[in-house]
Amino acid sequence: MFSLEGKTAIVTGANTGLGQGIAVALAEAGANLALVGRSSPDETVERVQKAGGKTHVIMADLGSIDPVDTIVRETVETFGGVDILVNNAGIIKRNDALNFTVEEWDSVMNVNLRSLFFLSQKAARAMIDAGTGGKIINIASMLSYQGGVRVPSYTASKSGVLGLTRLLANEWAGRGINVNGIAPGYFATNNTDALRADEKRNSEILGRIPAGRWGQPSDLAGAAVFLSSRASDYVHGTIVAVDGGWLAR
Ligand code: NAP
Repeated sequence: MFSLEGKTAIVTGANTGLGQGIAVALAEAGANLALVGRSSPDETVERVQKAGGKTHVIMADLGSIDPVDTIVRETVETFGGVDILVNNAGIIKRNDALNFTVEEWDSVMNVNLRSLFFLSQKAARAMIDAGTGGKIINIASMLSYQGGVRVPSYTASKSGVLGLTRLLANEWAGRGINVNGIAPGYFATNNTDALRADEKRNSEILGRIPAGRWGQPSDLAGAAVFLSSRASDYVHGTIVAVDGGWLAR
């Protein structure tokens, strides 16, 4: 029930970090991958193919919603359909709320929330038209639950991802589409470079993680495969925290 043999997955932001980890995990479970992003995902292509998955690369800047039609159309043309969408692409801007700029607000909201919604809408229409149903997985955050500091647009966007995941699940569960999310805790990726480089923040964060270590992209594999597979057919509108116990503190 965890097999993704014959399934097609779109993963956004797949060239590095968590998106790469998720793409490789889905390929290992049998899926073919449409790898979407603004940087060439060469390493991910190699790793997905090594795991036995076919790949199709779609270069797209999700800072605007212009590419969403192309992403879904090209995936359907290449693989014959779309079964799984992982909305992973995301950015973060750090600044005091008092100094936060319109650019820092809009750029984050556009990628993390606006493009996530319209790509989900486009993929859901394709899934419904094909009569196959499907799985949509949104990458949320600890800041879907907590306030954080110095990241106002990130917190707003990720809190929005939680609400939107529930709304879309309510609307699409009856159409055979499971909409769920994953809330990663603190993972060692580009997104957290600044935190890990700051000795004080690094040790404060580590001291609060019950598992006692930063997450690695491969730690998301189990949750990603579960939410993409038949094993989660009756799971709707939920967010699985993969956080080394952070939220339990
Ligand atoms: P990352 O290494 O910075 O990767 C982010 C990915 O999103 C990259 O592939 C990036 O492409 C892509 N991306 C950014 N802006 C884009 C745009 N305008 N158009 C297309 N693609 C774009 O960070 P990550 O940690 O793997 O983040 C992945 C997701 O997990 C994000 O949604 C993030 O908020 C979330 N998350 C991360 C953590 C963590 O601890 N790392 C925790 C909770 C949630 P480029 O390489 O070209 O920039």
